[in-house]
Amino acid sequence: MFWVAEPMPRTDENGTMTTLDSTAMLAKLVAFDTTSRNSNLELMAFVRQYLTSHGIASELVYDEAGQKANLFATIGPADKPGLILSGHTDVVPVDGQDWVTDPFALTAKAGLLHGRGTCDMKGFVAVILALVPEIAKLPLAAPVHLALSYDEEVGCVGVRGLIAKLAGRQATPFACVVGEPTEMKVIRAHKGKISLRAQVRGFECHSSLAPRGVNAIEYAAALIVKLNEIGARIAAEGPFDAEFDIPYTTVHTGVIGGGTALNIVPRDCWFDFEFRHLPAHDPDTLLDELKGYAAGELVPRMHAVDRGTGIAFQDLTSFPGLATDDAAPVIALAKSASGRNSSSKVAFGTEAGLFSAAGIPTVVCGPGSIDQAHKPNEFVAAEQIAQCEQFVRRMVESACVRR
Ligand SMILES: [Zn+2]
Repeated sequence: MFWVAEPMPRTDENGTMTTLDSTAMLAKLVAFDTTSRNSNLELMAFVRQYLTSHGIASELVYDEAGQKANLFATIGPADKPGLILSGHTDVVPVDGQDWVTDPFALTAKAGLLHGRGTCDMKGFVAVILALVPEIAKLPLAAPVHLALSYDEEVGCVGVRGLIAKLAGRQATPFACVVGEPTEMKVIRAHKGKISLRAQVRGFECHSSLAPRGVNAIEYAAALIVKLNEIGARIAAEGPFDAEFDIPYTTVHTGVIGGGTALNIVPRDCWFDFEFRHLPAHDPDTLLDELKGYAAGELVPRMHAVDRGTGIAFQDLTSFPGLATDDAAPVIALAKSASGRNSSSKVAFGTEAGLFSAAGIPTVVCGPGSIDQAHKPNEFVAAEQIAQCEQFVRRMVESACVRR
């Protein structure tokens, strides 16, 4: 094992330009603890300074609190439709995970680069940044845009502000690559997600008088059973899409809380649930079914005991599915750049559905495997980084370079 030392910036003759190879750039990015709850502004300041040293202007699109930002930069003729290379800068927490190495210090071991975010997805971000000096020297007929976001891991929140800004420009990009870990496979479709919190308000009383109360936990349980029934029905009856590893829409309850003591009929219970839906399966119809059951079956029974009871639903996060046509030029470009002759579909969500919904043909392709994402001792293989470099070079060459 060796530790990748703090990378030494290389400077050219005029003493300004910094170049870093992908691994050195990745070491830099990993060292910023950009867990979603933290600010990412230090990382963005580093990226801006780096881009500036190559004569590339960039802009930041901040969140409401001014603590986080997206970055958008353009290399080449900004007035023409171009290619977006996109990645998120936030990472999931390391809390409670058993790491062998320091998660915020890139560590190379037997061809694997370990560190939080190496696979999801600072590896891709490092590659596109490391290639900036090379891309900037190309005779570009179409621009290459870099789009770096915040708060992807908490529901694709940050990138929405950036996409809204893009919509105002005259030249809609003709293609977007979201570099989430796909082992460099070309992914043309992924599921969408809606997630909600159900809040059940019951009526408290001593548990010896239980029938005079409204037990919030028991009504929450009835809702969860209903969700389970909906999920089982979809699993049995579809709709199906065999190209997804789980070929149908899934339903899941993930967190629950309620009650205060065993001898009190609980007044409150809440739980969080989600639908991970096929791109063509409208999750609102499923949600309406659940809400109809709550309003039609459960609430009348609750109100019969006390009118102050009820069930409320609060939206948490959602993002659309991705369903780019296999025949779309962006897929052909990505297949040719990655040397593959097929594209596929995955269950996990990305920002790609949002770019696609904004009218930008989008593909997901990036280094590393989703199997390593979010886990302790996360890594990306150096060989994947090398493949990604070749992919980005070929993408830019065939989509943007003047001939
Ligand atoms: Zn990711």
